[in-house]
Amino acid sequence: MRQRLVMGNWKMNGNLRSNSDLLSAIARAEPESAQVVVCPPFPYLAQAQSVLSNTPIQWGAQDISLYEKGAYTGEVSVGMLNDFACQWVIVGHSERRAYHAETSDTVAAKAKIALQHGLTPVVCVGELLSEREEGRTLSVIEAQLSPVLALGTEVVKALVIAYEPVWAIGTGLTATPEQAQEVHAFIRQLLSRIGAEQVRIVYGGSVKANNASRLFSMPDIDGALVGGAALDAKEFLAIVAA
Ligand code: 13P
Repeated sequence: MRQRLVMGNWKMNGNLRSNSDLLSAIARAEPESAQVVVCPPFPYLAQAQSVLSNTPIQWGAQDISLYEKGAYTGEVSVGMLNDFACQWVIVGHSERRAYHAETSDTVAAKAKIALQHGLTPVVCVGELLSEREEGRTLSVIEAQLSPVLALGTEVVKALVIAYEPVWAIGTGLTATPEQAQEVHAFIRQLLSRIGAEQVRIVYGGSVKANNASRLFSMPDIDGALVGGAALDAKEFLAIVAA
């Protein structure tokens, strides 16, 4: 049985005051069986830790440095995430790949360093609209995952994969449950080749309260990575309930 996972990626949103309301509302949630995680921007990890400690809700970061310490201006190390009791980190989000030129090799290296220090990486993959239209979705996903799968079965078994079609992110254009399922099933097939088919695969891209249950009814969709809807406590908790 793969435990359901609903993760909120706040991206670069929020402030001390709005976070306080959002975190307190989420802290009151009683997720029955799902694992629930929020990922605020780095400066607010301490705030998340202070509100969410002693609740079933966990917190994580949106990125991690490849390096453990040193002259890397602007970077945040895995040790710093450990200091704030983060248990999770998103790696390879399409916005990092697009705006910060992260390659799939970098993403795999980040996943590895996270795992070596006790964090669960959520590795994001997803195709552009043009790639889907050219019929290249599955080959793009396979290429993005290839350096991650090369980390070996034991490493891969400990991470989570998020399928986030780039054209569905922040656009209101959710992949249909069938479109998402097709890619999730393909990813599961890649995982099963190395004996890691139990890895959780969550979907991201315009997940809302009104489309979550249909997505979650698909056999290979194990939860969601939620962007915009994670900034609204009612909407986020409705997704958790779904
Ligand atoms: P939206 O839910 O806003 O489409 O964002 C999805 C996402 O990028 C989560 O990481």
